[in-house]
Amino acid sequence: MSANSTLPIERHTIFQNSLMSALLDGIYDGEMTVSELLGHGNFGLGTFDALDGEMVIIDGTCYQLRGDGTATVADLTQRSPFAVATNFVPRIVRTAPAGTVRADLSTFIDSLLPSKNYMYALRITGRFDFVKVRTVTKQQRPYRPMVDATGDDAEHTFTDITGVIAGFRTPVYEKGISVPGCHVHFIDDDRTRGGHILDFTVGEATIEVCPATDLKLRLPLTHDFSRAELSPEDLDQQLHTTEVKQ
Ligand SMILES: [Zn+2]
Repeated sequence: MSANSTLPIERHTIFQNSLMSALLDGIYDGEMTVSELLGHGNFGLGTFDALDGEMVIIDGTCYQLRGDGTATVADLTQRSPFAVATNFVPRIVRTAPAGTVRADLSTFIDSLLPSKNYMYALRITGRFDFVKVRTVTKQQRPYRPMVDATGDDAEHTFTDITGVIAGFRTPVYEKGISVPGCHVHFIDDDRTRGGHILDFTVGEATIEVCPATDLKLRLPLTHDFSRAELSPEDLDQQLHTTEVKQ
């Protein structure tokens, strides 16, 4: 791609199971297995049934990041109520400026993108001075809306840690379908610690971007989903409270 191109170089599909607005409404049980999900991509993020931890998929392996900050390989039979996946192709590769915090790196990444109107998978690999994560914790039925459930979040800060930040930059027009802006999860090199990223500072890292043009949306065939309220009036506020927390 030339430096001033405003188009992705290739068509590329992102797969998504269910909707962010369904998760916000407390639809925490899905009918898609990790096994099926991995058939749609070797890279991604999401959560597990009953909101039992954050999910990250790296190099075709799906990991479960729990409230105690630990990571384990997810079983193929586990289920997910919300996940986004793709086959990651690093089409744009840059060095991340050292000392950059999340907000500034987000601006830097935006400057690398051909257009804000497409979807992007993002992978940032290297060493971080610190990484602050939160992790949703397992819920019990009857499920509360996510703005209440995330009040139970466990937060962890890892310092001087190597690993990978993986996720997606989603256009604002997908608000409710997904999380607008950057939504990224972290897992360390040993694949033993991680969570949903709140903030970080780059030590020495490489940014890889995979532009996407096509969205394959899979809606759950469940009664819970069919009855969910998917267009709440305070959608913006709910997204901010549950995903950004700042
Ligand atoms: Zn997340």
